Amino acid sequence: MDLSVVNHEDYFAKIGDDHKFPINKFGALAKYLIKKKIIKSFYKPYSCSEETLKRAHSEKYIKDVKNKTLDQRIIKKIGFPIIDSVINRSLVATGGTVLASKLAIKNGIACNTAGGSHHANFDGGAGYCVFNDIAVAAQYLLDRGLAGKILIVDLDVHQGNGSADIFKDNRNVFTFSMHSKTNYPTKKSISDLDVELEDNIEDKQYIETLKFYLRQLNKENFDFVFYVAGVDIHFNDRLGKLKISDQGVKNRDEIVTENFFLKGIPLCGVLGGGYNKDFNKLIELHSILHKSCAEII
Ligand SMILES: [Zn+2]
Repeated sequence: MDLSVVNHEDYFAKIGDDHKFPINKFGALAKYLIKKKIIKSFYKPYSCSEETLKRAHSEKYIKDVKNKTLDQRIIKKIGFPIIDSVINRSLVATGGTVLASKLAIKNGIACNTAGGSHHANFDGGAGYCVFNDIAVAAQYLLDRGLAGKILIVDLDVHQGNGSADIFKDNRNVFTFSMHSKTNYPTKKSISDLDVELEDNIEDKQYIETLKFYLRQLNKENFDFVFYVAGVDIHFNDRLGKLKISDQGVKNRDEIVTENFFLKGIPLCGVLGGGYNKDFNKLIELHSILHKSCAEII
């Protein structure tokens, strides 16, 4: 079976080529996945509806984003200008993770070519995240009875603080974040399971630590998994402070996707962060998620 991957040309937004966020990676990743024959075609998402967004974000925040009346302080925290293409991409990328999660239930595994906006909170965005697509999609599945006990495996170099906050009182969603101790956010939130890594951790120890926690998580009976596959753990990343190699990223993605897929637990993979100094390397690293999923399905 071919892997289901969700993509939309509007994942790209006009924030300017000199912006610190490598926005061009979205178009480039989609082209790369086709060119390397990892997949043949994409599923196209709709913009996420207000009804669906409202289950993970306050009505005021959603309206302020859509009407461009957001407080300057929050705009600064987000780090993107709140312009039409950014608003549109945030809605479409969130719709993309919702669609990918439904495809994961149908086919066992599916991915978005964006998503992983884990810093966005109930009433405001932060750290290049406008809407928390993972939280919105998780709530969507719960509301429709499509999942009952969801696990978020967040292996981005930064803590998934927004997801942790949104679900702190929700017993149906378990948040697991394994991240660099010294990276953003300075003040960490409390996930259900936080693993803080030292910056000098080596591939071998990183993988062993991951396997240890996956074994613990395997004791629970989760019926759906979101995987935030941030590649900012790579040694050549501009923001991430960990020093994981190409092979380490590959091992990580294969271990996580296999762990759940082979147990028949639907997995939805989302991109997460990546700010590699080498743009072509960044695309290659992000594609490892899709490649790992395409190979096991
Ligand atoms: Zn990150």
